[in-house]
Amino acid sequence: MADKKDWKAKYFNSLQQLEDMETTWYKLEKLLRKAISRISISAKGINDQLDTLLQKIQKNSCKKNDAALELNLEELSTLLAKMDVTQPAQCFEAGSSNADFHASLLQLINQLQFDTDYKARIDNFKASISSMDSDQCLSNLAEIVNELLPQEPSDKSSIQQVLISLTEKIALAHGTSKQLEGIQEKLGSDFECIDWGSYLDDIISEIHSIIRGINHEKIEMESLIVDVTRQLNDISNVLTDEQIDSLEGRKDSANLQSLMTESVESIQTQVIQEDDIHKLKSSIKEHLGSIKTGVSSFVQRDNERYLKAEKRNSELQQQIKLMEKESSELQIKLSENRQKLMFDALTGVRSRLSYDEILEQEISRWSRYHETFSFAILDIDHFKVVNDQFGHNAGDKALQIVARMMAKNIRKTDFLFRIGGEEFVLLLPKTTMQNAQPLVEKIRSSVGTSSFRFKQQRVDISLSAGLTAITSEDSAESIYERADKALYEAKNSGRDQLILKSA
Ligand code: GH3
Ligand code: MG
Ligand code: MG
Repeated sequence: MADKKDWKAKYFNSLQQLEDMETTWYKLEKLLRKAISRISISAKGINDQLDTLLQKIQKNSCKKNDAALELNLEELSTLLAKMDVTQPAQCFEAGSSNADFHASLLQLINQLQFDTDYKARIDNFKASISSMDSDQCLSNLAEIVNELLPQEPSDKSSIQQVLISLTEKIALAHGTSKQLEGIQEKLGSDFECIDWGSYLDDIISEIHSIIRGINHEKIEMESLIVDVTRQLNDISNVLTDEQIDSLEGRKDSANLQSLMTESVESIQTQVIQEDDIHKLKSSIKEHLGSIKTGVSSFVQRDNERYLKAEKRNSELQQQIKLMEKESSELQIKLSENRQKLMFDALTGVRSRLSYDEILEQEISRWSRYHETFSFAILDIDHFKVVNDQFGHNAGDKALQIVARMMAKNIRKTDFLFRIGGEEFVLLLPKTTMQNAQPLVEKIRSSVGTSSFRFKQQRVDISLSAGLTAITSEDSAESIYERADKALYEAKNSGRDQLILKSA
């Protein structure tokens, strides 16, 4: 083996020559490093693992740490295969070498076709490769390459094979494109006469556009997912705001709400975690499907609830109408009954109920406006005897005649009540006791001077009366008591007379 300085000088010298020839391993290496650098920049941001790896690649490429670079490229190949979903990962395996540097080097050497003159030299190198460190390996290889380089034709076909294999791998991994087909066509034809270095640039630009496409697709997908998520959130919010009165409806709405929330959360998590766009797409499709089913069955149940509620509503409305009718009928009956209750059924004059109301009303008027009124109790004398002598029917008739005679003689503004069996009250508004006296007397005596016949028999009737007027301390009870005292006096003084009693 040549001494170290000698081989380096030769090596650099040969590199210079190769550069001049514009088709050398050195250019290939430069282009490959350039490719690595471009791929690193293009692929940045697609995947965290990829970013870290690309950083390492860039670093090792700059440092020219080829052993590490080899391992990194191996890793990159595996990772890219994993990232791809259209083709299985083993697409890359056909051209991959082992991680081991020696094995990789051996594989590389095996791919190159050497002239038979160099075969023994190469075999010798291959046999001793395992005993050398990587520096020694590279030195030896450089030496051999240096000797080989002038014999260009055999190397060119190796390069052609490598490039064809590279384009095939790209096509397998990401599908073919017009540009790639063009490159493959040219590579397959007149390779000897062309500048293969420029194809490497084309291939790099193809890889660049593939990565850009992946990036674009990912960005589009992300914006689609953001849009879908926003729309789902909107739907979910609308359903939350919806006012559903029935308990069943609320429960149903809550179920739909949680289905939506879970689906949206699941989509959001998958957007962050799932690297596989196709899996993500099918998962979103699945979630949208279950949301669609959920919403449509909710809408169906909601419609059913609506129809049920509408039916119940119309039944209730009919019931309300019926009840309103019944209620108004009842009100009429009630008012009729009240009217009836306000008047005595036998005599037609005002009843005991009416007496209570009107007396209270007049007392209030008195307290507020000091409108005086007179109050008289008139009681049929010995009415028991009438009943006993002529019978109860004669007594009823007598009551009717007496009431009619009294009513005929009072003013429109006066009130006549039958408050007990044969006991009447005369209430004379805005009338002092003095003014009331002749009126009461007239009424009382008109009954006393007339008689009526029952079954051919003459029935004589007289009235006793007690008269008083309202005073400031009076209540309904006290005014009655005072008038009743006066009546009592009238009864005790021989009946058929009127007695006045002031407070
Ligand atoms: P006095 O002169 O002291 O008032 O004697 P009186 O008999 O009128 O009084 P008493 O209180 O002793 O009797 C009243 C009678 O009036 C008794 C009852 O049978 C009769 N009476 C009460 N209400 C009615 C009624 O609606 N119809 C008839 N026919 N009689 C009645
Ligand atoms: Mg009596
Ligand atoms: Mg009586």
